[in-house]
Amino acid sequence: MTDRYAVFGNPIGHSRSPTIHAAFAEQTGEAMRYAAIEAPKADFAGAWRRFVAEGGSGANVTVPFKEAAFELADTLTARARLAGAVNTLSVDADGATHGDTTDGVGLVRDLAFHAAPLDGARVLLLGAGGASRGVIEPLLAANVTSLTIANRTVAKARALAELFAECGEIDGCGFEDVTGPFDVVINATSASLAGDLPPLPDDLFLDGGVAYDMMYAAEPTVFLRWAGDRGARTLDGLGMLIEQAAASFALWRGVTPETRALREQLRRAL
Ligand code: NDP
Repeated sequence: MTDRYAVFGNPIGHSRSPTIHAAFAEQTGEAMRYAAIEAPKADFAGAWRRFVAEGGSGANVTVPFKEAAFELADTLTARARLAGAVNTLSVDADGATHGDTTDGVGLVRDLAFHAAPLDGARVLLLGAGGASRGVIEPLLAANVTSLTIANRTVAKARALAELFAECGEIDGCGFEDVTGPFDVVINATSASLAGDLPPLPDDLFLDGGVAYDMMYAAEPTVFLRWAGDRGARTLDGLGMLIEQAAASFALWRGVTPETRALREQLRRAL
């Protein structure tokens, strides 16, 4: 039997997830199909229930439904609860909906793939939206020395730092109060989408420092260009996308796909 999976979003036409999961299924010999479903903005729950009634086994969830998926899930993993969002849904043996998030592990694995160590690193996380919240606990669990969250709306950075205070050394501030240098700077703002750059000091990076933009595109983002000019090694979020997908695939199918060849293929297709 061919099991059915999908990614839910709105809009969803741009999603690379069907290509990624088709490649994983072929590589691992898993019998599954994976579609893209544009759910109505006001009725994600209805779209998910229809999918399950028609035999769906699991799904990825992307913008703007990660919080709705969190609300809808009957059970949640601890990491999804901390993230306040769900990007992976599965239907349990008893028909209940289980929610998890693999975004954080996707980022940590991508940094490891690129040999950018987090253990002992001073890390700056720009942004305090959903993407930022989802990676905080996995970053702290990777044994960073300190994690600073900087955001345009300072209160949101401080609130996140407070929320995760028990998980490790973390603080929140505005961009103008950022004091570097850092080993790793992660841009989890959506500023790059508009070609904007958060106002940051010039001495942001330690020697050998890494700049990571969760956004990816054919050309380097304005943040990565700025960071490269200041001596940082630059990485974009394409690998995070692929690694979060690999982690979701492993949750559903019990087998972890290899990602190297797909990284090259998707990079060429950008
Ligand atoms: P949200 O809308 O939840 O949060 C947006 C964040 O960006 C907020 O902190 C906001 O600040 C900040 N921001 C927006 N515009 C600007 C600006 N012009 N200057 C400075 N800060 C700004 O978005 P998400 O957290 O869901 O997504 C953030 C980014 O991460 C997106 O680009 C998304 O594509 C990417 N992403 C990539 C993934 C991957 O797998 N590669 C996975 C998930 C996300 P404020 O609070 O002040 O409004």
